[in-house]
Amino acid sequence: MIPLRLKIATQRGEPFIVRLNDDRHFLDATYGRMTAFDAQLEDVTANAALYATNHGPLHIYDTDPTETHGDVLFVVPDRKIAHRFIRANSRHNTFLVTERCDQLCVMCSQPPKENHTDMFPHFEAAALLTETGKTIGISGGEPLLYKDELFGLLERVLTARPDLRFHILTNGQHFCEEDAGALSALPRDSILWGIPLYSHKSATHDEIVGKQGAHGRLMQSLAILARTGSAIELRTVVMQPNAAQLPSLARFISSHVPFISVWAIMQLENIGYGRQNWDQLFFDNSVDFAPIASAMNLVRARGIEARLYNFPLCTVPFEYRELAPQTISDWKRAYPDICEPCSMKTECSGFFEWHPHNKSYEGVRPI
Ligand code: SF4
Repeated sequence: MIPLRLKIATQRGEPFIVRLNDDRHFLDATYGRMTAFDAQLEDVTANAALYATNHGPLHIYDTDPTETHGDVLFVVPDRKIAHRFIRANSRHNTFLVTERCDQLCVMCSQPPKENHTDMFPHFEAAALLTETGKTIGISGGEPLLYKDELFGLLERVLTARPDLRFHILTNGQHFCEEDAGALSALPRDSILWGIPLYSHKSATHDEIVGKQGAHGRLMQSLAILARTGSAIELRTVVMQPNAAQLPSLARFISSHVPFISVWAIMQLENIGYGRQNWDQLFFDNSVDFAPIASAMNLVRARGIEARLYNFPLCTVPFEYRELAPQTISDWKRAYPDICEPCSMKTECSGFFEWHPHNKSYEGVRPI
């Protein structure tokens, strides 16, 4: 698995942000010059790379500097680690801005915690150092619990760096009329709001997210986002409790929220509560694709884009495979031995690293 944390040593006490530059050139695409955040590679030994930073020498252990060139790190000296906030050679960079959440979804991959540390200033600094044209994910927990901080970051970063894009995952419980001005002022093409909707029935949706009234509140938020011209990616994890209802959900989406940019039907991740509840939740689409096919046909016939996220391609009928992009992040994507001879491996999402192959899709076989 690609490491998201690096082992480091430095004398500086407070956490700080740096961008790594190898010994050949500075990364100058952003500012055209070296910034106070830039660290320059000075020496490489058998197990460490030494960088000169504004905060003194920084040793990074057990990495190849050519693979971390351009990375933006959050260095935590007393824990002797650095988080790779931005990996320059990846499309999958996400800021986890909080672990707090006001829902308790049955399949949550990141079960919420009570504590919160405000890292927004560090995330903002990292975003500003990001390579030209990248998309940055923002996730939680529920990011909108810190709406002022989030909107402030988006406004400042997108003003300074209009080339960047943000993909923000939110439970859609916190948009209100007072946000309309801030939302309207944000550039529509630069932000995609990823929002879960699990059923057309409020009782089913509320039960899945563990919050009474969540479905109704979500509809209010979607209306506000629509009025402000915000781009929405509606996300539905397919599970045993909602799979049969997908065609009804498709009809609901077509008639109530046809303004969305895309509807993503997603496969379940076996981690967090998703692992605890796997036997009751996992829906094997390789055995029964009919409700998914019917739902996708319905929305697409009405001009709504539909996609399949996190589906192994061989579990999807041929005619729907072009709608299943490689969505599992590179650092947590894995392919078992059976995938070796597969002609579609480079296009396939494969599996989450922690996928249980003994309780899995029946229909996995090389294409
Ligand atoms: S065999 Fe593996 S690589 Fe090929 S489509 Fe299936 S999951 Fe993907």
